[in-house]
Amino acid sequence: PELPAARVRSLFLDFFREKHGHRLVPSSPVRPRGDPSLLFVNAGMNQFKPILLGVADPRSEMASYRRVVNSQKCVRAGGKHNDLEDVGRDVYHHTFFEMLGNWSFGDYFKEEACSMAWSLLTEHYGIPADRLYVSYFGGDSGSGLPADEETRQIWLDLGVPPACLIPFGLKENFWEMGDSGPCGPCTEIHYDHVGGRDASRLVNVDSPDVVEIWNLVFMQYNRELDHSLRLLPQFSVDTGMGLERLVSVLQGKRSNYDTDLFTPLMHDIHQRSRARPYGGRTGALDEQKVDMAYRVVADHIRTLSICIADGVHPGMSGAELVLRRILRRAVRFCVEVLQAPQGTLAGLVPTVTHMLGDVYPELHREADRIMDVINENEAQFLSSLQQGSRLILRTLNRMDYKHGVFPASVAWSLHRDLGFPLDLVDLMLEERGVQVDRQELDRLIEENQKVKSDQQAGVQSQVVLDILSLAELQRHGVPHTDDSLKYQYSLQ
Ligand code: ATP
Ligand code: MG
Ligand code: MG
Ligand code: MG
Repeated sequence: PELPAARVRSLFLDFFREKHGHRLVPSSPVRPRGDPSLLFVNAGMNQFKPILLGVADPRSEMASYRRVVNSQKCVRAGGKHNDLEDVGRDVYHHTFFEMLGNWSFGDYFKEEACSMAWSLLTEHYGIPADRLYVSYFGGDSGSGLPADEETRQIWLDLGVPPACLIPFGLKENFWEMGDSGPCGPCTEIHYDHVGGRDASRLVNVDSPDVVEIWNLVFMQYNRELDHSLRLLPQFSVDTGMGLERLVSVLQGKRSNYDTDLFTPLMHDIHQRSRARPYGGRTGALDEQKVDMAYRVVADHIRTLSICIADGVHPGMSGAELVLRRILRRAVRFCVEVLQAPQGTLAGLVPTVTHMLGDVYPELHREADRIMDVINENEAQFLSSLQQGSRLILRTLNRMDYKHGVFPASVAWSLHRDLGFPLDLVDLMLEERGVQVDRQELDRLIEENQKVKSDQQAGVQSQVVLDILSLAELQRHGVPHTDDSLKYQYSLQ
């Protein structure tokens, strides 16, 4: 492409570093350090939270930061910012993405932040101004927060037409890191991939045509644990722009997956599978599921590589459980939709490290380990999947269907030994017109409740709905359409 992603990234960093005196701070690992409120790092600002709150150790280097720029590895799966369900369905939400950001800690504020952003987008990157829409905080009467008229005026002065300035409420334009933490009104820049529309008639900027690219947050408050807002000791600017979305704009693509951040992966997946090439389709039809599978696998292998390199392994609780789910989902799409052989996922890792390793060198260092962890977990999953479906079928075949009651001991074994959640076992049997021996199963559950540790109980409530395979859904009468995938998601 004319402007490769690597160049888009470095232009951003150079603009703030060289032109506007920002210090370049490397990305933090995606595993949050000392912040139990987070599963994964979900924004560039996470590592700067102590400065925003005014509690950075005065002897630390961080305490001296005034203007900072960086490109942060972010994961949004689980927690407050959870995009897992959108991934693969749309073409601009990923579980892993890179967030480009600039910060002012008690230095410049709204006016400079907006004008730098506008100049970077329209002058340096050359995005036509008439394709940009800007939202700002329109106030919230419930919490007594006033509209951010100041920001609206700043945009007007920068030449944004009134019709392209849109007020939104708390949900869209008051950014919060999590249930607690720094927050404040924000103003977001959206790009219209279509153009030529009557701006005054644009009511919703949250469509696949008009995609948010950059969020400028004016950090003024801390959301306390009791949910009240406390004014911060100093006001800061915190911005975040998704690299993948920016690159799609600059490469003239409607989809992030059609940019050079993903096309080598799509190609690699095709080489390794028996599926047709990636076609870029979205929607609910069966045929498009192959394209969705490509997107899911491409997305998930990046996330897996980045997380494992940073020491988050698929596991049984918290972030590790989320990663386990991501791995299992990727395996399922690989095997069932793309008909790719075992080992495909790990085989994609060199392409990921090739594309991202120069920016995040830990990928190069950890490549072998990443592949080992993925292969090991894949093998484990495939084997329990196989055993589980064999066990169900064998049992069903042995039963007298019409009057049969599925033996509680088998249901329990599916759950305990193979990780099938009980409500899923119920559901699958129900779809076959049989019921589990409820009384006996309840007895088994109760009996085991006594010995079950708290930890296991926590896991049980969330875990392993991802064990269910698409093939099994079909076999058990759930139609083979996009709905069956949706159905699986809703189970998760
Ligand atoms: P959206 O409304 O599209 O979900 P957001 O408002 O949740 O985005 P922010 O928290 O404002 O996103 O993050 C700043 C920027 O990071 C966004 O403007 C967008 O460019 C990018 N971004 C956010 N979530 C994702 C994601 N899941 N995948 C790729 N880029 C993302
Ligand atoms: Mg979001
Ligand atoms: Mg948004
Ligand atoms: Mg936003």
